[in-house]
Amino acid sequence: MSMRELVVLGTASQAPTRQRNHNGYLLRWDDEVILFDPGEGSQRQMLHTGITATDLTRICVTHFHGDHCLGLPGMIQRLSLDRVPRPVAVHFPAGGAEYFARLRHASSFYETAELAVEPIDADGQRITLGIGTLEARRLRHPIETYGYRLVEPDGCRMLPERLAAYGIAGPDTGRLLRDGHLDRDGRRVTRDEVSVVRPGQRFAFVMDTGLCDGVYALAEHADLLVIESTFLESEAALAAEVGHLTAGQAARVAAESGVRTLVLTHFSQRYADPRRFHDEAREHFTGDLVVAEDLQTVQVPPRRVPSPG
Ligand SMILES: [Zn+2]
Repeated sequence: MSMRELVVLGTASQAPTRQRNHNGYLLRWDDEVILFDPGEGSQRQMLHTGITATDLTRICVTHFHGDHCLGLPGMIQRLSLDRVPRPVAVHFPAGGAEYFARLRHASSFYETAELAVEPIDADGQRITLGIGTLEARRLRHPIETYGYRLVEPDGCRMLPERLAAYGIAGPDTGRLLRDGHLDRDGRRVTRDEVSVVRPGQRFAFVMDTGLCDGVYALAEHADLLVIESTFLESEAALAAEVGHLTAGQAARVAAESGVRTLVLTHFSQRYADPRRFHDEAREHFTGDLVVAEDLQTVQVPPRRVPSPG
């Protein structure tokens, strides 16, 4: 079984608290280990997770407010310190290239690690990965901000009993899979007759935004959605003004978008009791709901049940 899970490094917006580190998230997805929005302290938080700098394959930054990027200098230098043997891809809003350049060279270090820097400069930009497509969508925030989603294409799963019923075995199975059909005894057997769709999985990461089309585009049918809920509905006007979401808004997006597991995070330090985020979101969303805590692991839920072909 391949591993697909989110590991939360930190959950505080703006300033860390005694309980919450600055933002930071790791996504383990088969052979990709993606670090999202490393705030201050991410390097040390990672020590508690069992994931090391040498495991990282990719870094995605949504925008260059400090709580989403001040961990970059430490993480980047750590890649060199640990002699990470292969290039690590880095994505961020192209308009923030100057910030990235400063963070990357914030202090003197012996640079051995190779970064494959690929900034995002268009809404809907797609990056092809071995595991599917990484897509960036523009969000609504005072500075240029992109959210990300990972989309695994649908696959197909052969049904051994149907193959057997048609007398198909060995190399013929591969041929049928490749060509989509197989001619046998004067009859054509199609792939659909002997297989079911294996639904691809989706992960979405929506950070620092007011409600906008990009939020919905990213959340659509996500198996796991990580989304900021800086505020509660009692501060809805303030949230809209400064380009943030409330727990209620995030939950309604999730409900309307067919999300399965909803992870709320990026909490304002003004709220002492995290249950308030849960209770507000629960009024709108009936699926799996997680009010993220630092160092929590959240599994990507099992694949949706395949539909008969
Ligand atoms: Zn921000």
